[in-house]
Amino acid sequence: MFENLSDRLSGVFDKLTKQGALSEEDVSLALREVRVALLEADVSLPIARDFVKAIQAKATGQAVTKSVTPGQQVVKIVHDEMVHFLAGDNANAGELKVDNPPAPILMVGLQGSGKTTTTAKLAKRLTEKNGKKVLMASLDTQRPAAMEQLAVLGTQIGVDTLPIVKGENAVKIAKRAKQQALLGGYDVFMLDTAGRLSIDDELMAEVEAVRDVASPRETLLVVDGLTGQDAVHTAENFDARIGISGVVLTRMDGDGRGGAALSMRAVTGRPIKYVGLGEKMDALEEFHPERVAGRILGMGDIVSLVEKAQESIEVEQAEKMMKRMKKGMFNMNDLKAQLEQMSKMGGMEGIMGMMPGMKKMQKQIDDAGGIDEKVFARQIALINSMTKKERANPKLMQASRKKRVARGAGLEVSELNQLLKMHRQMADMMKKMGKGGMLKQAMGAMF
Ligand code: GDP
Repeated sequence: MFENLSDRLSGVFDKLTKQGALSEEDVSLALREVRVALLEADVSLPIARDFVKAIQAKATGQAVTKSVTPGQQVVKIVHDEMVHFLAGDNANAGELKVDNPPAPILMVGLQGSGKTTTTAKLAKRLTEKNGKKVLMASLDTQRPAAMEQLAVLGTQIGVDTLPIVKGENAVKIAKRAKQQALLGGYDVFMLDTAGRLSIDDELMAEVEAVRDVASPRETLLVVDGLTGQDAVHTAENFDARIGISGVVLTRMDGDGRGGAALSMRAVTGRPIKYVGLGEKMDALEEFHPERVAGRILGMGDIVSLVEKAQESIEVEQAEKMMKRMKKGMFNMNDLKAQLEQMSKMGGMEGIMGMMPGMKKMQKQIDDAGGIDEKVFARQIALINSMTKKERANPKLMQASRKKRVARGAGLEVSELNQLLKMHRQMADMMKKMGKGGMLKQAMGAMF
């Protein structure tokens, strides 16, 4: 997700991080590009303007700290401001109020936004992660297929659904769900309200009536993240009429423009609680402003990467690697360990976006004829073909050594050169991030 904005901004910051000193002019120039990048990501003009203004005010007049370059300092300010825009005052917004059973959760949104899917995803999460007993009910009396859909999903994920009774209106179903939740000892009952193709009075009146009988603890608006500013308008409308407690942005797995996420909190004042990342029942993630900001800025999402790594490798190994990275140490053995983990973690696609500096490298690889998943195996073979000394100090790799190593792996020297270049770029990036404190900051939550 957020590929476009991320790419653009990393271009801008690349220029900045190469500067030795930063004039006010440089800041203005860079920020102008930030503004264009935001607009291209479908962030509304007033929000983009406010965002840039806030950064300018903070960047100008701030004393330059010795330990970081001025460029890094601006990146940090942009990052913090972005987190602020994404999160508002409370940082991680993935918590739901589901105490005092049975806690009602009202799911609202337009038709096709992913409301029914999200209801089931969330029910699964509450059941599996929070150990809650959940009941789901579809209130979509206009579309029997939608009721069936929820029932099918319920069976699939092992969550109960309220039996369908033909001829009942939405309010009546809501009352029955509440009763059933009380009688059946449920912790949570979720009401999947009907959607319309666009916001109309009839829809709003129905949702209002349901809200009044259910007194929901949470009212979650599900919006399609691909619709950019439309998603934000939808949220404004629902909030004004119904009052929402949070937003779920779906389809953030698509060719995402970060615009909706960035404007949502600033415009509506409501937090994004979750993001939908696919059609499968597990494809729902808590919304982490820090992570999303990191991803938008192309700094790489180290926390996510580490979490993912922990699922497939021993924690110890990850910690060791991160400690070395923090110190700016990154030799061929480290690279090999990473390549091995990456192939364990199942391919390039997801991981690329998360590694610092990887985005640019992906372009290079693409330019050189694209990635195939066997590339890891070949790169590992090249590293295996190096001597211990060469692995610890890749600078030793001169022409004759290169020939020997490539021959040993049965590959071309050009491929070895690519590997060495990639290693250099990664090592540089780690060093920079380690120095600027960004790596430390990103890792703070973990170690
Ligand atoms: P509703 O009309 O709002 O209830 O929408 P549905 O829940 O029926 O979803 C409409 C379509 O969007 C379905 O095909 C879902 O599988 C799909 N969908 C929902 N959420 C996501 C998401 O986060 N990512 C992707 N790629 N598809 C989604």
